[in-house]
Amino acid sequence: MTTINQFNFKNFRALIRVDFNVPLNDQLEITDDTRIRAALPTIQKVLKDGGAAIIMTHFGRPKSNLQSVKLGAEDKYSTRHLIDHLGKLLDRPIQFADDCGSEASYKLAKNLKAGEVLLLENTRFYEEETKGDEEFAQMLATLGEVYVNDAFGSAHRAHSSTTQVAKYFATDKKMFGYLMEAEVVNAEKVLHQAEKPFTAIVGGAKVSDKILILENLLNIANDIIIGGGMAYTFFKAQGGQIGKSLVEDDKLDLAKSLLMKAKEKGVQIHLPVDSVAADNFSNDANIKTTNSDNIEDGWMGLDIGPNAIDAFSRVILESKTILWNGPMGVFEMTNFSKGTETIAKKVAEATSNGAFSLIGGGDSVAAINQFHLNDQVSFISTGGGAMLEYFEGKKLPGIEAIKDASDEIPHGSR
Ligand code: AMP
Repeated sequence: MTTINQFNFKNFRALIRVDFNVPLNDQLEITDDTRIRAALPTIQKVLKDGGAAIIMTHFGRPKSNLQSVKLGAEDKYSTRHLIDHLGKLLDRPIQFADDCGSEASYKLAKNLKAGEVLLLENTRFYEEETKGDEEFAQMLATLGEVYVNDAFGSAHRAHSSTTQVAKYFATDKKMFGYLMEAEVVNAEKVLHQAEKPFTAIVGGAKVSDKILILENLLNIANDIIIGGGMAYTFFKAQGGQIGKSLVEDDKLDLAKSLLMKAKEKGVQIHLPVDSVAADNFSNDANIKTTNSDNIEDGWMGLDIGPNAIDAFSRVILESKTILWNGPMGVFEMTNFSKGTETIAKKVAEATSNGAFSLIGGGDSVAAINQFHLNDQVSFISTGGGAMLEYFEGKKLPGIEAIKDASDEIPHGSR
């Protein structure tokens, strides 16, 4: 498998799939450019080598097709709004094509010179994109001579620009970008080469979102810490009183069977022995600490309690590999953020003691950022859904399309 560092892009036009799905405000200004910045090393490598970059991305979830967009529909989803900012970041003018692979972009792409950048219109203005249409993919492929996929956040989607397009490039002319490569290398390290003890910390609101990841973690982790709203389904399944805490009554059997499977496999499941309970879902609610399996009627557990924090901290500090997905409580409210904050600090401490830590999922990443610990963990994944599916043990189509059957995952080339 070709790695981006091995490849010299001189005189090549590289078709680069990025994830520039950034948020805009009412004035159509970018409010958080993290995703754009994350793909810069890949684009800069192409330009520095003396190649040209053709950049394509999806942008929001438009309902209109390209024709109605040209007539003025859903302008807010046009990638035109990214031109100025991208130009500043790359320090050069950005050419723009108001289509993807048909006339305008084809002409502009063919005439690109070394060091030039062309941004395509939103791939999702073509309904073919999300259907994984082959013809559309082929049309996109005519634009470049090399295909680089740096859109990890979209790697779980078998869309034309993330997956099918790769078929039209020879094995030595398709590769991961730096961001995608780092995601794959770090995920593989946790999934297949984890130094033991390996602790997975899983939290968040719903068990139903985390069933598949929990099932897979039972095969690879030594310890699984369960926190957040999802923990109460496990307590109720074992006969506990959970007041009006979050619960999924249709998942009680499943929670029981997960606990049983863990026992069979020798995996330690750690549930929060105590909780910070509130009489209301509000930061101003009355609060008390209580055992998690004995929460009074009318009260709900919104954070893990002090004994749970101590117990979880001990497990984390003994770990050599840590995977964290999902907060321990309603960390957005200050009165219920202590559990998540302390666990984040312990993950950072374990990392400074030599453990490898990978954080993924929108809310755990938000928590790590909120507590300013983002540079004290080993790796923060940029892909929410993609990260979750990867750790569920699924093969992601965007990754498979680049690899061929005999491929080893690269060990990181940056
Ligand atoms: P998820 O998207 O499943 O990772 O869930 C994240 C959300 O779960 C966050 O917005 C948290 O506020 C919420 N959450 C965490 N713990 C609890 C809890 N004990 N009760 C209600 N919501 C919670």
